[in-house]
Amino acid sequence: MYDVKSRKADEFISHEEILDTLAYADEHKDDLDLCRRILDKARANLHPSVEHGAVISHREASVLLACEDPQINKEIKELAHKIKQAYYGNRIVLFAPLYLSNYCVNGCLYCPYHAKNREIPRRKLTQEEIRAEVIALQDMGHKRLAIEAGEDPKHNPIEYILESMGTIYSIKHRNGAIRRVNVNIAATTVDEYRMLKDAEIGTYILFQETYNRKGYEELHPTGPKSDYCWHTEAMDRAMEGGIDDVGLGVLFGLQGYRYEFAGLIMHAEHLEAVFGVGPHTISVPRVKPAMDIDPEAFDNGIPDEIFEKIIALIRLTVPYTGMIISTRESQEVREHALQYGVSQISGGSRTSVGGYNQPERPHDTEQFDVSDQRTLDEVISWLMDNDHIPSFCTACYRAGRTGDRFMEFCKSGQILNYCHPNALMTLSEYLVDYATPSTRKKGLLLVKRELEKIPNERTRLLTSQHVDEIMSGTGNDFRF
Ligand code: SAM
Repeated sequence: MYDVKSRKADEFISHEEILDTLAYADEHKDDLDLCRRILDKARANLHPSVEHGAVISHREASVLLACEDPQINKEIKELAHKIKQAYYGNRIVLFAPLYLSNYCVNGCLYCPYHAKNREIPRRKLTQEEIRAEVIALQDMGHKRLAIEAGEDPKHNPIEYILESMGTIYSIKHRNGAIRRVNVNIAATTVDEYRMLKDAEIGTYILFQETYNRKGYEELHPTGPKSDYCWHTEAMDRAMEGGIDDVGLGVLFGLQGYRYEFAGLIMHAEHLEAVFGVGPHTISVPRVKPAMDIDPEAFDNGIPDEIFEKIIALIRLTVPYTGMIISTRESQEVREHALQYGVSQISGGSRTSVGGYNQPERPHDTEQFDVSDQRTLDEVISWLMDNDHIPSFCTACYRAGRTGDRFMEFCKSGQILNYCHPNALMTLSEYLVDYATPSTRKKGLLLVKRELEKIPNERTRLLTSQHVDEIMSGTGNDFRF
């Protein structure tokens, strides 16, 4: 039975509720009056406020997803763009993944790290190797990482992850620093989540892969990850362990997208109902080719048009949740995704263990083929050409604005008063320390122009002063 507040996976992601939702969506997808009413409800979220308009439900969002009317679909994207501007402005936060180890005991059919893959060279970084990777990432200009590891109690125990986080935070190379470490590791216990919290985790990220239990069990035939409930209830345990920023995601292409979308929104509703705080981020990966993996083997691939619509609908449904797109996607797809709701992207990524320290992009231990192979500097320059402000900000979590405090901050529109100056100051750090001359020139003009837009006079003067200090090398790491 469906119960949004239940702590049991089968009840908060009820299969029957998803089937009823899809049937309801099919029945009403041509009811354009209803679609318009749902859009109007979502429009109430345009002006962020604590008393924000009722967010649309998984049922309502599913009706919009099923609707094929071109005009409605156009309005969905337009509204998503406006909501994104209202909550996030034109800032885009940058991060990079750091692969620590590809040892894995699971049997995930879509992942090249699966235990039966005997071809892939297995590697696990030593703390010394992590140092070298982090220095390479700092020298690119990164300040925020997502660490990734396979599940292997012998090779990658929690102690290894914690030690690695300590190493990463401790490295200060030139003006570089990693100020936020997000962690993408397998589902674990409340005690281990507590340890991650104590080690100053940013966001705990765990992709559900698929919300369809039957499909999940087929795709995860062996290993601890094969336990659907253990995996699906992980975010509840993470929250219990004190991690209040959690990141959801579906690996699109494995199962039917309409089912996944309803499940994803129900998961967000569940976290909000039980803990008073929804997911901090939602990621939207699609299955990619990789060693021993042919995406054609999964017959649920989604075309770009539907992918973009899903992104737009996530933006309408959970306006305050950050949305992440990785280098799995091409420049063109990322360009569109940024318009409809994505707020964080990776840049200059290497998805192989030890990849940042090699002159050429290595392919042997790669987790998936990288579509967007541009350097971080090229990504920064492209973002600015497209009227975005690249941001390396990590202020919220360092100022304790996590979980419900972040959500209140976000829902009350404060994001605009703090994030804009923080973006300009961290971009200035990038420009002075790491940018190529042409990117620096473009960036300096942008910073000058955008400083004028800070409404509060005191904040504007202070930000301007800090930018001068950063540019002259007399100070850095300022934040509001
Ligand atoms: N091992 C951890 C776990 O089990 O959740 C997480 C780390 S894994 C390195 C990160 C994510 O990569 C997985 O959750 C999965 O969604 C994604 N992934 C795996 N194989 C992929 C593929 N062939 N294409 C695209 N993404 C893939």
